[in-house]
Amino acid sequence: MQLSIQRLTQWSLATLGAMACSLTLAQTYPTKPITLVVPFAAGGPTDIVARTLASTMGKTLGQTVVVENKVGAGGTLAAGYVAKANPDGYTFLIHHNGMSTAPALYRKMAFNPMTDFEYVSQAVDVPMTLLGRKDLPAKNMQELSTYVKANAKSINLANAGLGAVSHLCGMLFQQAMGADLTTVPFSGTAPALNALLGGQVDLLCDQTTQTTQHIKAGTVKLYGVTTKQRIRALPDAPTLTEGGLKDFEVIVWHGIYAPKGTPPAVIDKFGSSVRTALKDPAFMARMADLGAEIVPESKQTPEGLRTWLQSEINKWGPVIRAAGVYAD
Ligand code: ASP
Repeated sequence: MQLSIQRLTQWSLATLGAMACSLTLAQTYPTKPITLVVPFAAGGPTDIVARTLASTMGKTLGQTVVVENKVGAGGTLAAGYVAKANPDGYTFLIHHNGMSTAPALYRKMAFNPMTDFEYVSQAVDVPMTLLGRKDLPAKNMQELSTYVKANAKSINLANAGLGAVSHLCGMLFQQAMGADLTTVPFSGTAPALNALLGGQVDLLCDQTTQTTQHIKAGTVKLYGVTTKQRIRALPDAPTLTEGGLKDFEVIVWHGIYAPKGTPPAVIDKFGSSVRTALKDPAFMARMADLGAEIVPESKQTPEGLRTWLQSEINKWGPVIRAAGVYAD
């Protein structure tokens, strides 16, 4: 009896100690700048979402959220880096659909998306646009279809590497066309878009967060958006489905992750700052301008992200394996 009371006291003291610790952490965190890792090049679509979010979050966290671009291997390099980072609440990752396609695309993975992370929240959904260089002869999707079928061998399609959404969208486009184009990988779609603007590549599928300004300025050819319905940011842009690519849909979703073992009090505080930012009027206006949609509140939670990620892994794994696309 005496022993069990002693054990109970030890247990209670340990629990109380842990509670006090997490209470203190919740009050004091963060005490220094936080790093938000972006898996693609600076100035690109993921970077634009990350930087807008980071600067808005700085207001509630009272510390700067510094964006760091760790590019390479279609986003898997950054995810592997964050999976192994110190789980002290000062390193986070923002990543998109690539987190769910990587397990099927990469035979060797430095991380497991379902076991190596703590989940914070989803953020915004972003449509993509299929673009051509300005002087590409095809004026719309119907003409592009004919052009691609006749010139497949000489057409260059840019992307941001295996695991990038530009790659996924390009792969679906080639499947829809029944054509095998020459793909040109970049470290992100910021340099890929520059190559398109410079006429060094012919086609690129890229997020509206980066492309709307160029579409409006007429410096690229637009063949369609990858949503089922037309989008408010580009009301005159036809969908690819309208252009004849039946049921063509790619939406880029974004998740925020921390290394496994990051304290729950930190996840709560960082996540609550994400949720506050997603309601910030200036953030919302900027995202709307760029064609991005804030996700519903049910997705702005750790569980909302975790279950979504698992469902996306289940959805894309078989599609990618059937296509036989992978990196060793
Ligand atoms: N969204 C990536 C970027 O920010 C590229 C991609 O996934 O296609 O560059």
